[in-house]
Amino acid sequence: MSFETLNLNAQIMRAIKEEGYSEPTPIQAEAIPAVIEGRDLLAAAQTGTGKTAAFTLPMLQKLSAKKGEGKRYIRALVLTPTRELAAQVHQSVRAYGKYLKLKSAEVYGGVSMQPQIRAFRGGVDVLVATPGRLLDHMNQGNVDLSRVEMLVLDEADRMLDMGFINDIKKIISKLPHFRQNLLFSATFSTEIKRLSSSILKDPKMIKVASDNCAAERIKQIVHPVDRAKKADLLSYLIGKNGWSQVLVFTRTKHGADKLSKRLSQDGLPSTSIHGNKTQVARMKALKAFKDGRVRVLVATDVAARGIDIDKLGQVVNFDLPEVAEDYVHRIGRTGRAGNAGEAFSLVCIDEKHLLRRIEKLTQMSIERVRVDGFHPDPSIKAEPAKRGGRGRSSAKRGFSGRSSRSASGSATVKRDRSEFRRKSY
Ligand code: AMP
Repeated sequence: MSFETLNLNAQIMRAIKEEGYSEPTPIQAEAIPAVIEGRDLLAAAQTGTGKTAAFTLPMLQKLSAKKGEGKRYIRALVLTPTRELAAQVHQSVRAYGKYLKLKSAEVYGGVSMQPQIRAFRGGVDVLVATPGRLLDHMNQGNVDLSRVEMLVLDEADRMLDMGFINDIKKIISKLPHFRQNLLFSATFSTEIKRLSSSILKDPKMIKVASDNCAAERIKQIVHPVDRAKKADLLSYLIGKNGWSQVLVFTRTKHGADKLSKRLSQDGLPSTSIHGNKTQVARMKALKAFKDGRVRVLVATDVAARGIDIDKLGQVVNFDLPEVAEDYVHRIGRTGRAGNAGEAFSLVCIDEKHLLRRIEKLTQMSIERVRVDGFHPDPSIKAEPAKRGGRGRSSAKRGFSGRSSRSASGSATVKRDRSEFRRKSY
């Protein structure tokens, strides 16, 4: 199928050509006609499928087809879970709408409200926002949403995970009753179903066929390794394989900082991105990574949402995520838009249960590859709490928190070694 069949105007088509897209992705082929027709949409789509253009292109088409009378009003509102994703979506709105006479703005927390207020005063057609900051503006009377014609909830599952449900409800209560609603979500929990049934009217359901899912194009490997050797192994892998742009995930902000320092000391220029950094620092780190000035970007899940790096080759899970869905989101940073990608997980004995959850969710078994020189030491595995050394608790070492130690720390419960020998991780 070609973009020509989708009835997009010449200005949008020109922008698409400049982006280098030759044909719509499956989700775009299904979503674009339905949205232009005016239907509500419930789309099961992971990042990497081209979902942003799937809602942005028809949104711009509709907004530009109907001329606003004089004064500009916000006619399309896109809500995203994170600042990074808001910035990313806004960048797409700008890129696809560069030949249109529409104005757009992004608002999110962590930066001054003043420029955002100025943008509202100047008139905005398309607003991309995170719920918290938008609500702040609404409470201060800075923004008028009474003319919104189209609402997009992007990565709705993440917004609910992050506790935005009440903010979203408050925002929706201020929108006109008659409007078009598009909801995109990677997963469909009971909460998502409840939310979608409360806001969508007779939605067209779109599910991208599984063989188009980013996750299945990505080569996935688990390297079993002891926790204490993870940083050594990562340094080794980056150096040996000559990876030039690696996104690494850690569970904690502290862990992200520590690892990026360690890698830099090993001669691998690295930086970190997490929620304790200011928005400006996060943007700076991301730019350094995109520009190739740093080779490794170490990130926590929340900070990495919405990061879109063209042709990112490798994603490494230094720690496995506590929530299995995050694994899918993480590896979806690579293998985007048809490109090949690789995802490596450094898994220690304490993360066995997390790996099991991931395999259950993705319904696939991930190949285990032991790296010479980094084979897990079976004697260490049997008594993980004793390996803390230097007075560190197992929790501090990033263990799963399911320590087998007693409260006094002296009577470590002996686990059956055969449990570990079964090589189930
Ligand atoms: P998304 O799933 O929206 O995060 O998009 C993932 C990536 O796919 C982005 O880098 C887009 O620029 C790219 N992309 C979106 N649509 C197309 C298309 N039709 N052809 C090629 N690349 C695309």
